Amino acid sequence: EAQKLGNTAYQFYIASIGTQSQEELLLELELRQALERQEFQVYYQPKVNLRTGEVEGAEALVRWLHPERGFISPSEFIPLAEKTGFIIPLGEWILKTACVQAQGWQTAGLPPIRIAVNLSGHQFSQPHLGELIVEILRETGLDPRYLELELTESTVMENPDVAIATLSELKSLGIQISIDDFGTGYSSLSYLGQLPFDILKIDRSFVSSLTQDAKNAAITTAILQMAQSLNLKVVAEGVETEAELAFFYGHQCDQIQGYWFSPPLSAPAFEEVLSGSKRLPLSSS
Ligand code: C2E
Ligand code: MG
Ligand code: MG
Ligand code: MG
Repeated sequence: EAQKLGNTAYQFYIASIGTQSQEELLLELELRQALERQEFQVYYQPKVNLRTGEVEGAEALVRWLHPERGFISPSEFIPLAEKTGFIIPLGEWILKTACVQAQGWQTAGLPPIRIAVNLSGHQFSQPHLGELIVEILRETGLDPRYLELELTESTVMENPDVAIATLSELKSLGIQISIDDFGTGYSSLSYLGQLPFDILKIDRSFVSSLTQDAKNAAITTAILQMAQSLNLKVVAEGVETEAELAFFYGHQCDQIQGYWFSPPLSAPAFEEVLSGSKRLPLSSS
């Protein structure tokens, strides 16, 4: 009887694995076609200077508009792309698209902003990453100081010694480096001083809990103080409320990124913000 039950459970387990990987297989196939079919788009979320209310930068975030399934979140397909290696051609396309766009806005006479592009672990460890970036900057004509690369804490900490070398090479190109989702990985504080990066992005999980959770507020304050002593700029991710905004204003945070100002926007919608024809909450108050 027990064996029978066990078997059923086992078969159910196998069946569910079967469907999952079948679904994944299909998604992987569609992912590859999607690039050719131009189903990807890059959205831009403003990064706002808390003192001046100016849009100083934007994070480039990929979007997939699937012909039948509609919008598929990057949290669903980026891990898959990372697993299959497809992140390499996709990531190159995103990087190029974002650089072309940033340069295009400058050429059109809009205020220059820095564009931040996410790099996954696979991309970060790809050989000739520096050369690829040099080539993209050359092709698009974008000044390196207007490019920022976002790497998660976990990506960098996977192999800190290699990361130090790669980051130094990237920084020598004149681009900016930020550590994304800070506080969620397993940063060794001893490496923090050695890693050549410029910006620290406080993860949304701290931001969204700090007004209800005094401990998280204390940790966030400590992160801000540490970053300031290390001469790093700080960006708070996922700011949604005025109370959260006030907290960061009071703690001299450099930039804010979050729904309170704006969700990620399509290129034409972002252009309206940049040209000043659409105002964000801080600048109008
Ligand atoms: P991330 O790099 O930490 O990006 C920030 C995420 O937080 C974005 O989700 C953004 O839409 C979301 N967000 C921003 N402000 C708020 C807010 O106020 N409230 C809430 N609830 N969310 C907010 P998105 O675009 O879904 O991307 C999720 C993750 O997928 C990114 O996290 C990043 O890890 C990955 N990703 C997205 N685009 C790319 C890409 O082009 N390349 C790579 N390698 N990864 C990407
Ligand atoms: Mg990011
Ligand atoms: Mg993040
Ligand atoms: Mg994230």
